[in-house]
Amino acid sequence: MIAAQLLAYYFTELKDDQVKKIDKYLYAMRLSDETLIDIMTRFKKEMKNGLSRDFNPTATVKMLPTFVRSIPDGSEKGDFIALDLGGSSFRILRVQVNHEQNQNVHMESEIYDTPENIVHGSGSQVGPPAPHRNKEGLHNAKEILTRLGVEPSDDDCISVQHVCTIVSFRSANLVAATLGAILNRLRDNKGTPRLRTTVGVDGSLYKTHPQFSRRFHKTLRRLVPDSDVRFLLSESGSGKGAAMVTAVAYRLAEQHRQIEETLAHFRLTKDMLLEVKKRMRAEMDMGLRKQTHEKAVVKMLPSFVRSTPDGTEHGDFLALDLGGTNFRVLLVKIRSGKKRTVEMHNKIYAIPIEIMQGTGEELFDHIVSCISDFLDYMGIKGPKMPLGFTFSFPCKQTSLDAGILITWTKGFKATDCVGHDVATLLREAIKRREEFDLDVVAVVNDTVGTMMTCAYEEPTCEVGLIVGTGSNACYMEEMKNVEMLEGNDGRMCINMEWGAFGDNGCLDDIRTIYDRLVDEYSLNAGKQRFEKMISGMYLGEIVRNILIDFTKKGFLFRGQISETLKTRGIFQTKYLSQIESDRLALLQVRAILQQLGLNSTCDDSILVKTVCGVVSKRAAQLCGAGMAAVVDKIRENRGLDHLNVTVGVDGTLYKLHPHFSRIMYQTVKELSPKCNVSFLLSEDGSGKGAALITAVGVRLREETSS
Ligand code: ADP
Ligand code: MG
Repeated sequence: MIAAQLLAYYFTELKDDQVKKIDKYLYAMRLSDETLIDIMTRFKKEMKNGLSRDFNPTATVKMLPTFVRSIPDGSEKGDFIALDLGGSSFRILRVQVNHEQNQNVHMESEIYDTPENIVHGSGSQVGPPAPHRNKEGLHNAKEILTRLGVEPSDDDCISVQHVCTIVSFRSANLVAATLGAILNRLRDNKGTPRLRTTVGVDGSLYKTHPQFSRRFHKTLRRLVPDSDVRFLLSESGSGKGAAMVTAVAYRLAEQHRQIEETLAHFRLTKDMLLEVKKRMRAEMDMGLRKQTHEKAVVKMLPSFVRSTPDGTEHGDFLALDLGGTNFRVLLVKIRSGKKRTVEMHNKIYAIPIEIMQGTGEELFDHIVSCISDFLDYMGIKGPKMPLGFTFSFPCKQTSLDAGILITWTKGFKATDCVGHDVATLLREAIKRREEFDLDVVAVVNDTVGTMMTCAYEEPTCEVGLIVGTGSNACYMEEMKNVEMLEGNDGRMCINMEWGAFGDNGCLDDIRTIYDRLVDEYSLNAGKQRFEKMISGMYLGEIVRNILIDFTKKGFLFRGQISETLKTRGIFQTKYLSQIESDRLALLQVRAILQQLGLNSTCDDSILVKTVCGVVSKRAAQLCGAGMAAVVDKIRENRGLDHLNVTVGVDGTLYKLHPHFSRIMYQTVKELSPKCNVSFLLSEDGSGKGAALITAVGVRLREETSS
């Protein structure tokens, strides 16, 4: 249309040297790169306005949401009808999408003329092809102009062709500038320095104009040199496209349904959590009763710790911490009096995996050689010092200084230890070395150590909780309820060994196939089922198993299971903490997955984050349900309507996960409304706690012998 008007004007005005004159008159239609870049910037701003809630009403570029959230991934299939109205003809298409045979798409279409009176106004037909400066173009120009009723000279034809070139060149430039703005935005969104993308194009001008696409591509590459753009001609975009949009929507809806169905198994209602609490309580009673203790899975082991510290503890103590991530030897100096202080020195030693899973003698010889190194390091080899042995595995204690290992957990597997007293194994190893002597006063579980450490600061602390590599809890129970031991007076700290909750099948209805898989491939299959749903050693593995399943089903990573994803233990629980952090943008989630060798799209990242959230939330809720059972039992033991109690907590998962502690706190509050429970972070329960227990032990021994 513009071209036609211009032509009318120039036919009367132009005589000689027409091309030059045309150039002069149409100077404003030639857009420099500078101008195009300026247009790009302006268009980018308009896009931003269109997207913004505040500016959209007045925005000229409307940026309308299409609710198409995903591009096809090749797994679409089905039979679709597409209607195409709004083009030059009205069509009905039947589109079959088949994902088995190389994404075969079969279309049948029926074209219906749209009667003139239905189309309001008379939109012009697609115009004649633009003339072009070559023989064919000039010939075309002549023909077209003649048809229009003018009698053109050869010069006229050249001029007309020149005008057409300028007009279509401007069009190509303008389209390149706006597309450039879109590509810039895409690149910024993705946060990559270089954008590689393909642009699907449709439209007769682009497809049939002999110069348009070439000019357009060239300008675009100049304007956005940091993008690698390919162009792909769309075949029947409106028909096939409509069917594809429908197919993608179908696929997403079906995927969403299946994903939700899977994740629903992890979402526990309040009623289910109350049921878990009730079952935990029943298992606690079984462990405490003489008749049922033998077959109970929650062992409720006496720790022979009868009271929390009273502040009179005093002296220098050695402590060993075995059963956490690191093996440590510590020197703890406790000073009583007006200014109570605890001073600690420690050294971390590695326990090679071949020793963890070798013989018991090798394991204990290694421990003693580490102690020897530490005594040299501190310059205290000589006097026989009292020692507390934090041994964080289920032990049946017969006194404070004797503990028989019931079973290894958390990746330990040394032979000839189960069924033996670990204090004796330690004493024998010290003797074998014939270098120094130590007074092994107490075998301590880290849970008990944690409670004691917090109780030293806060007298209402009568519960200990660990949520680290494994999970466990302890609390002060009435002696009269501890049927395994003589005596009905006072209290004793009970090491619950709650990780084994569910080992008799009582949690099977809430365990998922993923929990079963993680259990099956662990070192202690069938054992520690509660722990395996809660603690740091396993949460990442649960997530990894779900991700594998989702990938197999085509919901993730384009259905490609990478070697990385197949590697056991690759998805560590610390990644859950990172991915679930609220401060993290989606891009950063992708970066984390990238580090893991998982190439994810935005959609993948959202789903991975959802999976992590569901798994860690369940862990925190289950832990809370167990804790609710514990605090309500303490309250009932004491016949109270209301109990104030503090729980001392240790463990990296509890400490570093962004939501775990809050969800657990809320769960306890909801499930045990009659208890007011505070949580206190313990600093180094295994070291300080062991020393405090040893100090109490030494004091009691001196009291009984005098
Ligand atoms: P342990 O329980 O062995 O004494 P920790 O309390 O330090 O030791 O817990 C170690 C466990 O914590 C590891 O198994 C690991 O899975 C988990 N972990 C480590 N870093 C994080 C983190 N940032 N967020 C959540 N869990 C973590
Ligand atoms: Mg620990």
